[in-house]
Amino acid sequence: MKPLYDVVIVGGGNAAICAAFEARHAGASVLVIEAATPFMRAGNSRHTRNVRYMHIGDAGAMVGTYTEDEFYADLLQVTGGETDEDLARFTIRQSASLAEWMPAHGIKWQSALKGTLQLARTNAFFLGGGKALINTYYETAAKMGIEVIYESPVVDVTMRDGMEHPHTLHMDTKDGPKTVDAKAIVVASGGFEANLEWLGLYWGEAANNFFIRGTPYNTGKMLRIFLDKGAKAVGNEREFHAVAVDARAPQFDGGIVTRLDTVPFSIAVNKYGKRFSDEGVDIWPKRYAVWGGLIARQDDQIAYSIMDSKAANTFMPSAFPAMKANSVHELAKMLGLDPEAVVETVTEYNNHVVPGGTFDLTKLDDCRTEGLEIEKTHWAQTIDTPPFIGYPLRPGITFTYYGLGVNECAQVLDQQNKPLPNIYAAGEVMSGNILGRGYMAGFGMTIGSVWGRIAGREAAQNALR
Ligand SMILES: Cc1cc2nc3c(=O)[nH]c(=O)nc-3n(C[C@H](O)[C@H](O)[C@H](O)COP(=O)(O)OP(=O)(O)OC[C@H]3O[C@@H](n4cnc5c(N)ncnc54)[C@H](O)[C@@H]3O)c2cc1C
Repeated sequence: MKPLYDVVIVGGGNAAICAAFEARHAGASVLVIEAATPFMRAGNSRHTRNVRYMHIGDAGAMVGTYTEDEFYADLLQVTGGETDEDLARFTIRQSASLAEWMPAHGIKWQSALKGTLQLARTNAFFLGGGKALINTYYETAAKMGIEVIYESPVVDVTMRDGMEHPHTLHMDTKDGPKTVDAKAIVVASGGFEANLEWLGLYWGEAANNFFIRGTPYNTGKMLRIFLDKGAKAVGNEREFHAVAVDARAPQFDGGIVTRLDTVPFSIAVNKYGKRFSDEGVDIWPKRYAVWGGLIARQDDQIAYSIMDSKAANTFMPSAFPAMKANSVHELAKMLGLDPEAVVETVTEYNNHVVPGGTFDLTKLDDCRTEGLEIEKTHWAQTIDTPPFIGYPLRPGITFTYYGLGVNECAQVLDQQNKPLPNIYAAGEVMSGNILGRGYMAGFGMTIGSVWGRIAGREAAQNALR
């Protein structure tokens, strides 16, 4: 490690490496500082599978056309309008070059599988998944002369003008505190979802029962540092994206395999054995993100998905085996629930399933209940055919929305919308500028790739000026 770099990038995920590539292409000396170990490098990016980009005609792994307007309409739908139209459309337009830029840096696309035609037009999958993407990117980075140091979380920044007086980054390395100077800094350190104490400010004790689907290293330290230095905050600090995950999963870093998509084909009960929300509102991918938040609001942040053998093959296979029993009573006992309460709930539900519906996974079907306080509006089938099946569910947090405000050059803004001197941000730490609510598959990698590239390029140009 040298004492001074043109560009220092904090974080080791997709946004960081994309920034590093562009800064290096522009001729800057580049250091990437990663809090994690080499094995755990690249935060939540290691868990990803695909990226979304606009394209006119077949491009990269994608077929057909996905226009700016259609992409933006999809974004509006998931965010309910909580986005900045200029930045969002800018991101979408910039995403078009990813079809070629990513393979130019080593990524191989996985050709679309049969039956995923819908996704093949909007989402490009990486061959080998996020881990392969990251390993490839790190190899490319090494060849380009980008330096990386691991296990060195940045714990403070002395901010100066960045040019004549470089910034100083303070790290907490395994060999003790160290510093390095930078003419420009790119903050690409993810959200703060792994910081249960911070989440606890809004959720109290409940936060200790949240499961964090991704890296334990995204503690929001850099976000906190720059907010304390007067950076403008964007996004709702209380909100996060969360899905239902298997309660038997590890509390951190379970990745994609712990997600459970069982809810629409089951009834979901809380720790008292009572239903608490319409399980049949919609199906994956539109509704699945709602269940994380609903479970987070239940006592002890736990829920249980209960169904019978008719529903056994309607959802994606689970990482942990289903709990199975020959009676609802026995299943409730296995799940640690009051059997009488669960039997009563199931009986009441069964008595209100409207007979004669045609179960159909491919649409909002006509299988529903009538007369319950909380109806199930689709895919409602009686629970009466053994074996009975259950899964314990926890809220699995994917990412937080709260972040640093930026302009079109990825410069971090202060509260008067003036750029902080030579401080840039990319990826999850600034995604709240574009994604104020909801989520759209593949868009996290779009934001990281597009804004990483902009931040790296701009940081290098300024540092070398
Ligand atoms: C299970 C799962 C599956 C997902 N699947 C997809 C998908 O298929 N497609 C998609 O588009 N999105 C997906 N996402 C979202 C996606 O992972 C993120 O949007 C994206 O990876 C964010 O990239 P990033 O570089 O901003 O952050 P990250 O990849 O999380 O990287 C942040 C990095 O910062 C480091 N860091 C944190 N604090 C410090 C510090 N103080 N000092 C130094 N380093 C620090 C961390 O160690 C980490 O390496 C998924 C998320 C999860 C959890």
